[in-house]
Formats: sequence, structure tokens, C-alpha cells
Amino acid sequence: MPVHCFAGHPNLSRLCGLYAKGLTILTDVFSEGAAWMRGRIIPIGEACIPITDWGLTHCDITYDVVPVWNGGMFRLPAYLDRFEASMAALHLDPDMTRDAIQSALIQMVAASGLRNSYVAMVCSRGTPTIAGSRDPRHCRNHFYAWCVPYVQVISPEVVAKGASACIAQTVQRIPDGSVDPIVKNYHWGDFTKGLFEAKDAGFETVILTDADGNITEGPGFNVFAIKHGKLLTSGHGVLSGITRRTVLEIATQLGLQVDIRPLPQTVLLDADEVFISSSAGGVIPIVKVNETVFAGGVCGPATQSIHQSYWDWMAAPAYRTDIIYNN
Ligand code: PLP
Repeated sequence: MPVHCFAGHPNLSRLCGLYAKGLTILTDVFSEGAAWMRGRIIPIGEACIPITDWGLTHCDITYDVVPVWNGGMFRLPAYLDRFEASMAALHLDPDMTRDAIQSALIQMVAASGLRNSYVAMVCSRGTPTIAGSRDPRHCRNHFYAWCVPYVQVISPEVVAKGASACIAQTVQRIPDGSVDPIVKNYHWGDFTKGLFEAKDAGFETVILTDADGNITEGPGFNVFAIKHGKLLTSGHGVLSGITRRTVLEIATQLGLQVDIRPLPQTVLLDADEVFISSSAGGVIPIVKVNETVFAGGVCGPATQSIHQSYWDWMAAPAYRTDIIYNN
């Protein structure tokens, strides 16, 4: 209720106090995050989907994640493009326009009060409208969204000490002929198995190869190598990361040569610098892969320049959709 509704009320000052308290409570309610579910914005802890939703029972779901930094969404049109392409590839249609999806995201983040946030948009297959049907065309697809305080794939404390990764030996990336990595998905069985392998061996994270032994990606990130001033990254078997795209654009601007090509493990291990990219953390140096240490165990100079430019781009008005917050 707007404050002007209290104008002339005999208990004006008390009501204004209660209103302010209400706003504080609202902010507290959303401090852990908010969700947009069927047109309502609710605390993240209250958001749920039916246990019969094929998103859960068949992993029949797609999603995307846009970062919010200092109150602005970064490259929102690019994330919406990718989300729409993922939905189209899976024959998902939540019956919402792009504008409606965008405004759901913006209203949710505005209500949450979160200035730095990890904002997920999701479309699940839903539940068949004909009981017991196994026909995906009988499902009513379901869009929902949620936002939480900004998430980093590797915590800043670990990055400060030097993050490590191993190349998984016990699992390969699921073949792109089976699950297309360009369609952002929750088929994380391969990553989870790899993460257990990495953690058991004392590494922070894991990098997966394809069946030919070429580097693909890791849980939530793309992988880059720098060798003799040239930036190398895989062009197949990976998500077209928006951060990856940003990195490639920055690298060109910085005058680095870019080579998108199959990346054998030997090439990665022979690199001068290695880093990963993700909307959850930006450009993150990896100082050790398996037993190979890069750039003396610190963030190398080229990675540092790309990292700095990434955060400059995050602040650039041209790439931002500013949020008008409710509080
Ligand atoms: N690869 C995978 C498998 C991911 O899940 C992600 C992000 O979640 C990325 C790469 C990085 O993509 P982006 O830079 O768009 O966050």
C-alpha cells in the first residue's frame, strides 16, 4: 500500500512506522531469494512444483541464468535469446511472450531487493492434462523463475588461494548426440560423478572430456587455455556460454588471437594460463589442472586482463537492464 494512502489519517505517524516495518519484513522475507510462480512473487523457500512434473520425473526441463550485478541485469537479451532457443529445441511453450518473461524476471528481482543476484528462468514440461498419458504433447508447460544472492561456481576464498581442477577419469561428458549441451539442461549426472572424483582427489572442481579425449566443459562453466598469447577454447560439446561469448569479444578487443577448436588434454596441460567462465562468477583463473601448475600458481596476466574487462563490461550501461527496486 503506498504511503500516500495514509494521508490525513489520525494515527499517521504510527501507520507510517508500521508501513516502514512492513517493508523491512518484506525485505527480510526475500533476503534468501524470491520466486515467480504462476504470476505470484513469493519467498524462495515457499516455491515448489508438483512431484509429478516431468521436469522432475523425466528431467524434461530447460533453464537459463542471468546475473544481476549492482542492480542491473547483464546482457539480458542474450540470455532471453538462449532461453527461447532452448525451449524451442525441446518443444516447450509456456504460453508467455518474451516481454512477459522479461517483466516477470524484473519484477521478481525488484521485489527481492537483491542487488547482486543469480536469476534463474525455468520451463518444465509440466504434468499431462490426460491422466497417465506418456505423450509429451499432453503436458501443460510451466514457466517459473527464482533469484538468490549472487552465486559463484568457485568461491572467492578458494579463487584467492588458487583454484584447482582435475580432468575426470571416471566419467565423460554425455555425448552431444544424446543431450545437446547447447540446450541448457539439468542432466548433471556426469558432472556430479566428476565432482565426487575431483573432491575425493583434493581438487576444487572437474573438467570433462568427450569420447575422443577432448576437453569440453565443467559443472557450470566453459574452459579456456592461453598459449603464446592465443586464446583457445572448444567449439563443440559445450554450452554457448554468454560469459564465453563475452570473453571471446573481450579477447578480440584486447588483441588476443582466438582459436575455437578441439582441445586435446595435452594442449590444456601445456597452456601458459587456464581459466573458466560462468555467469556465476565471471572469469575465474584455474592455477592447477591435475598435477600441472600454471603461471606460477597465480592468476596469469592475460586472464587478469580479461577478468578486469569482464567486470568493466558488467558495469557498462550498454549491456545493462537496470532494475527499479521496490525498496
Ligand atoms: N557450461 C555449462 C554446462 C553451464 O551449466 C554453464 C552455466 O551454467 C556454462 C557452461 C557457462 O555459461 P554462461 O556463461 O552462460 O553462464
